[in-house]
Amino acid sequence: MPPLRADSPIQYVKGVGPRLAERFATLGIHTVGDLLEYYPFRHEVEQGEIDIADLQPGTTATVRGEVLRVSGRWQSLKAEIYDGTEKCTLRWFNQRHVGPGLRTGALVIATGKVQEFNDRVEIIQPRLQVFPPDTVLASPEKGSQRVGVYRGNAEIKSSTIRRAVHGALAQRHLPVEEILPPELCKKHDLPTRADAIRQMHVPAAEKQLERARRRLAYEEFFLMELAMALRRYKLVSLQRGRKLHVTPEVDRRIRARFPFALTDAQNKAVREIAHDLESGRPMTRLLQGDVGSGKTVVALYACLAAIANGRQAAIMAPTEILAQQHFGNIETYLEVSRVRRALLRGKLSRKERAESLAAIEAGEIDLVVGTQALLEKDVAFKDLAMVVVDEQHKFGVLQRANIRTKGPLPHYLVMTATPIPRTLAMTVFGDLDVSIIDAMPPGRGQTITKVVTRSQWKTVMEYVCKRLEAGEQAYVVCPLIGEDDEATKRRSDRATEGRDRGIEGSRDQGPQQLRPTRDTQSSIVNRQPSIRNPQSPIPNPQSPRLVSAKQVYDRLGKGPWRGLNVGLLHGSLKPAEKQETVEAFVAGKLHAVVATTVVEVGVDVANATIMIIENADRFGLSQLHQLRGRVGRGSKDSLCVLIAHGRGEKAAERLSVMAETTDGFRIAEADLRQRGPGELFGTRQHGLPELRVGDILNDFSLLEQARQDAFDIVARDPKLEQPPHARMIPALRKMFGTRLALIDAG
Ligand code: ADP
Ligand code: MG
Repeated sequence: MPPLRADSPIQYVKGVGPRLAERFATLGIHTVGDLLEYYPFRHEVEQGEIDIADLQPGTTATVRGEVLRVSGRWQSLKAEIYDGTEKCTLRWFNQRHVGPGLRTGALVIATGKVQEFNDRVEIIQPRLQVFPPDTVLASPEKGSQRVGVYRGNAEIKSSTIRRAVHGALAQRHLPVEEILPPELCKKHDLPTRADAIRQMHVPAAEKQLERARRRLAYEEFFLMELAMALRRYKLVSLQRGRKLHVTPEVDRRIRARFPFALTDAQNKAVREIAHDLESGRPMTRLLQGDVGSGKTVVALYACLAAIANGRQAAIMAPTEILAQQHFGNIETYLEVSRVRRALLRGKLSRKERAESLAAIEAGEIDLVVGTQALLEKDVAFKDLAMVVVDEQHKFGVLQRANIRTKGPLPHYLVMTATPIPRTLAMTVFGDLDVSIIDAMPPGRGQTITKVVTRSQWKTVMEYVCKRLEAGEQAYVVCPLIGEDDEATKRRSDRATEGRDRGIEGSRDQGPQQLRPTRDTQSSIVNRQPSIRNPQSPIPNPQSPRLVSAKQVYDRLGKGPWRGLNVGLLHGSLKPAEKQETVEAFVAGKLHAVVATTVVEVGVDVANATIMIIENADRFGLSQLHQLRGRVGRGSKDSLCVLIAHGRGEKAAERLSVMAETTDGFRIAEADLRQRGPGELFGTRQHGLPELRVGDILNDFSLLEQARQDAFDIVARDPKLEQPPHARMIPALRKMFGTRLALIDAG
């Protein structure tokens, strides 16, 4: 038989054949290479044959013996065997074809899980080889071995996969080529690719398995980071940008616009940005910081730097309301300045719009604020040098927005209020620079967070009532709108199935809101995570019913908050009704609002100091953090109460990190651990590959090394022309498929 190649169809593997090959195809395994890279998800230690007397409950073992008796029917079948010294029972449930020939006197070799039952050892659902009486069997294999357990499906079992893998491994030289440059294998003491693959399937020992896993994880990280490094090279090093000068005089004039001194954290971000602008290469920077940390001020600094250099700047917000809010804020800072500014609203008349566009194109406007509409075809800038994208809680607009301008690429600054753990920032935004504002401006109150159980509900509400009567204001956030709303209920039932717990999207989306939205971190949960992660610990569909805003509103009005003015706020109200409630709350006419997560974005009430979240255990930590950010905005201290409705201590325990810290990065990190990266972010959307072996949380330092190595190589050999680098290109292509165009395209 000719040796198998990596691209040989799997049917040529010993024992596979065309029919089985079709079933392998259902797992995406078509070639020998696919099979070799289909790794077991765990290993079982299988002992060699042992004496029945040595069977240990809890292990998997193989024994041989003579059948003394067979009893029961296929639903529950039992055979007693004897090896000359000791007896044990083999037991099967619902197995129609245990083994032809299984009868008294036959010889069997049985392998399976050992359990203790009524003081006797039994082997449950064993695999069986049956031999006629008096067969002379070869002497038993001794010694333990690790065997892979593979993820199968309805078409194909783990043991079938294992047999095929063993067939493919039977060749002395595996058809597997090295991908990594030899210097890196040496530097990190990595086994060869072929060795690692072999050890993944049939590890000689735990240590070899770990080495193999480490090697393959490194390789995945390395290729992923290599793609990032190449992309970054294309974006940054190859592109011409506008050199902007941030002289001490420019700096002084910009700072004079703000009625306060910048915080240390803001100053650091400003320095990083100024450095980019001076470099002459286009900036691609992510600016992270909690709501209220002062990002807008930093972004405005960047815009004013461009304007001071005689160029234009643009700020894009995700919604019209936020664009207006930005524009209003900016107005207060720029009131007495000569900066010519415009808000490009959606509602402009045709004439007004034409005038604005003409002014922008003629360079008569310095600073434009708007929504994504700034990307429309008819918007052209004379000399746009700075684009700020406010993503609020959303990720993903990382493709360079295709703004129409002449000349070199503008500088980009993307603002996000969702802290992205360092671990993920590196992978998801690996090709961006990141500035972090990690401290709040001075003069903010503290927020104390308490986690309570449902049994404390009344006590909490009575306590809060007193504070409300004394002049504070509260939000009560619930996951659902109302129970009586059948459609809502159906949607929510669907939403609670499986892994979803974003519940209501964090953006106000009208009656559609219970459908997980596409664009918030809370709702990405129901997307297929593309980076594998252990199952999420968040409770599950059977936990107690979710409470709705209407329910809570009624219960509070009839009970502990009788006599208070309370509003109800949710996404299926008409905009005018919503507006009215928000205004009454802002004006201090309402003690509290009971709301769905619509409050997460956009409502800004400095006097609101109490946040109560019902069913808090059903929200992701990052979303809780965003919700909590609604209070603590003024100088007064605030209180946040998280009510866990789930039974048991698990639910409350998961929330405890909220009580320990208000540091958004720590919370995001914890959220990442609880829910996994695929749930937190739609990683696939960012063109990240699926990691089969690497785990960005547990293998983080390996990821860091791989990143460093990849960026070093691209710095030395950006086109991967040297032979040890060139051979990585096919591997990149395989990992990224068509997405590699991102990297290749000029
Ligand atoms: P973000 O955009 O991160 O939500 P903003 O830039 O809107 O934050 O700032 C939030 C509030 O804090 C604003 O009212 C702003 O005027 C104020 N602020 C920002 N920076 C400072 C500072 N250095 N000192 C005092 N107040 C500040
Ligand atoms: Mg803001």
